[in-house]
Amino acid sequence: MKKIIVAIDGFSSCGKSTIARQLAAYASYRYIDTGAMYRAVGLYAIRHNLTSDNDIIAALPDIHIDFAPQTNGTQHTLLNGEDVETQIRTLDAGNRASQVSQIREVRQFLVEQQQAMGKDKGIVMDGRDIGTVVFPQAGLKLFLTASPQVRAQRRYKELQDKNPDTHIDYNEVLRDVNERDYRDSHRTESPLRQADDAVVVDNSYMTREQQFELICKIFNERVSQS
Ligand code: C5P
Repeated sequence: MKKIIVAIDGFSSCGKSTIARQLAAYASYRYIDTGAMYRAVGLYAIRHNLTSDNDIIAALPDIHIDFAPQTNGTQHTLLNGEDVETQIRTLDAGNRASQVSQIREVRQFLVEQQQAMGKDKGIVMDGRDIGTVVFPQAGLKLFLTASPQVRAQRRYKELQDKNPDTHIDYNEVLRDVNERDYRDSHRTESPLRQADDAVVVDNSYMTREQQFELICKIFNERVSQS
């Protein structure tokens, strides 16, 4: 069967990575979480106390990001060979990721790597600019949305599950979601926007199963037409 590139974009905490992972497993495609790559750069900046754009740009040649497949089918992000999957998922790393992702050189550095990963197709990639910048020629572009409140609730639960000993404040998470939405869609470099030819899926009131079913249907139709 012909392989395509599936680009999944949308705001933070829309469930992009869940559906991307499910679809990749269903289609036997490779899954790439580009947010994890920005988070890894953010984590590097935090650890090395890099505050200015110039410092971060100068450090890029020292930043090597990889994905290590796990036996349970998931994958962990490696930063210079170290498994940082847990460390990149904090609110702090997410915020730094959002900041470093506004730097043009950081985007160029990561986009080049993402394009190389997709050269043989058969890939599901999620992020903010996949259908618009990384793979404008993608065979299927999906744009996921959900209300900010629904997304904050989901992120709250995810943070709580991953950090059971830490107190998490829902209102802070909601504020963070809104701030991140604003930054992602108003930045000068590759702002988040829906590609003209993207299929929009609002999953606020869909179960994961309903969403999976819908997206598999769209995927199968697209593959059979290509
Ligand atoms: O998707 P996730 O929340 O893990 O992404 C972390 C941050 O990285 C986002 O807030 C976004 O600003 C940035 N990002 C981006 N472009 C991508 C993926 C993520 O700018 N393709």
